[in-house]
Amino acid sequence: MTGQSEQQADVIVVGAGPAGSATATYLATGGLDVLVLEKATFPREKVCGDGLTPRAVRELDYLGVDPTGWTSNIGLRIWSHRTYPYLLPWPQLKDFPSIGYVRHRADFDAQLARHAASRGARVEYDVAVTEPIVDRRNQVVGVVAKDGRRFSAPVVVAADGNSSRLAVQLGWDRRVDRPLGVAVRAYYESPRQGEDWIESWLELWDGVPGKSNLLPGYGWAFPMGDGTCNVGLGITNTSPAFGHTDYRTLLRRWLDTTPASWGFREANRVSPIRGAALPMGFSRSAEYRAGLLLVGDAAGLISPFNGEGISYALESGRYAARHIAEAFAAGVRTTAGEQALSRYPVRLRAEWGRHFRLGNWFLKLIGRPELMKIASHYLLPLPGMPMFVHRTLANLIDETPGDIYDLLVHGLRRLVPSV
Ligand SMILES: Cc1cc2nc3c(=O)[nH]c(=O)nc-3n(C[C@H](O)[C@H](O)[C@H](O)COP(=O)(O)OP(=O)(O)OC[C@H]3O[C@@H](n4cnc5c(N)ncnc54)[C@H](O)[C@@H]3O)c2cc1C
Repeated sequence: MTGQSEQQADVIVVGAGPAGSATATYLATGGLDVLVLEKATFPREKVCGDGLTPRAVRELDYLGVDPTGWTSNIGLRIWSHRTYPYLLPWPQLKDFPSIGYVRHRADFDAQLARHAASRGARVEYDVAVTEPIVDRRNQVVGVVAKDGRRFSAPVVVAADGNSSRLAVQLGWDRRVDRPLGVAVRAYYESPRQGEDWIESWLELWDGVPGKSNLLPGYGWAFPMGDGTCNVGLGITNTSPAFGHTDYRTLLRRWLDTTPASWGFREANRVSPIRGAALPMGFSRSAEYRAGLLLVGDAAGLISPFNGEGISYALESGRYAARHIAEAFAAGVRTTAGEQALSRYPVRLRAEWGRHFRLGNWFLKLIGRPELMKIASHYLLPLPGMPMFVHRTLANLIDETPGDIYDLLVHGLRRLVPSV
C-alpha cells in the first residue's frame, strides 16, 4: 500500500517470542524507542516442551519477571535402559537458582510481551513482516508488513523464530554443518501431572528396554500441574532415521510401552500432536550484519546438548540489547556504533561457542545407537557421571568453579575451539 506514512523507531524487533520480548524489555528499559511487530495475536499456541531450566529462570530474574505461582520442579529424572531412573536435583550453584518451571507457552509468551510493553516497548500484534527494507549502502533500515505498511529504524532485530524469514530473505542461510532437530509434543491427562520432577529418556524402546527395538531420538515428560503432562520426543539430523520417520507414530509406539497407569495413551491425549524444527549450535550463517541482529531460534541458538532454546533466546536478547545500547551511545551508523554491533556475535561465541562445539560433537556421537548404548550402559552408571551429564547438558556451570563438575567442564571447554 503506498501513501501510508512510515512509522519510525530507534529499534524494530520482529517477533514477540522470548527472544524478541527480552530484547525489547532491555532496550525499552534503557530508554530506546522500541517497536515490536508480531504476526500473531496473543495468547497463541507455540509448539514447545514448556520447560524452563534454572538457566531460563535466571534470565527471568534479570528481566524482572516474577514466576511466583507457576508450576515448579526440583530437578530432572533421567531414564536410560534401567528399570528405574537417575534422580538429579537442580544443583545448588552460585550463578543459578536451583528451581525449574513449566509454563504453557501461550501464557509465558503473552506475559513476556506484556512485560516488554510495561517497560515502554510498543508491541503491535497481527503485523506479519514480509521483507526487510535495504538502503543503497545495503544496510537494513526497516521492514515492510503484509498489509503494505512500512516501518523504519537504524537497527532491526530478527526474533522471528526458526524459519526467520528476514534472515532468509537476506540470504543468511542455515548452516548445513550444524545440527538440526525436529521435536513433536502433545498434552496427556495424567495422574503424574503434579509431580515435582521433569523427566527425560535417553533411550526410547518399543517394548521391554534392552529386549525390544531401540527407537531413534530422546523423549521427555513434563508435569504441567494442570491435570496434564507435556510429553514429546526429538530427533536430530545426526541420527540415520532423521527425515525417514513418522514422528507421530514414533511417539505413540514409545508411549505405549510406558505404564498404563501414567496415562500416556491416545484416550488421554487432549491436544493434537504438533512438531517444529530445532535449529541448533549456531546454525545461521551470521548473527549480525548491516543493521540486522538475529536473536534466539532465528540465529540457530538452541543447545545441541538438550534441545533447550528458551534460556538461550532470552540470553541472546540480553546480549543483543547491550550491544545495541552501546551502538546508540557511540552513535548509531557511525564507525564506533557499527563496531559495537559487530561485537554481538563475538559475545555470543565467548559465552557458548565452546559449549555448543562440544554439544555438536556430542550429538554426532549419540546419533550412532551403538555408541549411545555404550555410553548409557557403561559410562553413565559410573560414580558422579549422572550429575556430570546433567550439569553439562543443562549448561549449569558456575563461572568461578565451585566444585569438581565446574572444574571438569571448564577444563573440557578449554580443550576445544569455539564454533
Ligand atoms: C517440540 C518442541 C519442544 C521444545 N521444548 C523446549 C523446552 O521445553 N524448553 C526450551 O527451553 N526450549 C524448548 N524448545 C525450543 C523453544 O521452543 C525455542 O527455542 C524458543 O521458542 C525460541 O524462542 P524465539 O523467541 O527465538 O522464537 P519463537 O518462540 O519461535 O518466537 C518467534 C515469534 O516471531 C513471530 N514471527 C515469526 N515470523 C514473523 C513475521 N514474519 N512477522 C512478525 N512476527 C513473526 C512468531 O509468531 C513468534 O511469536 C522446544 C521446541 C520444540 C519444537
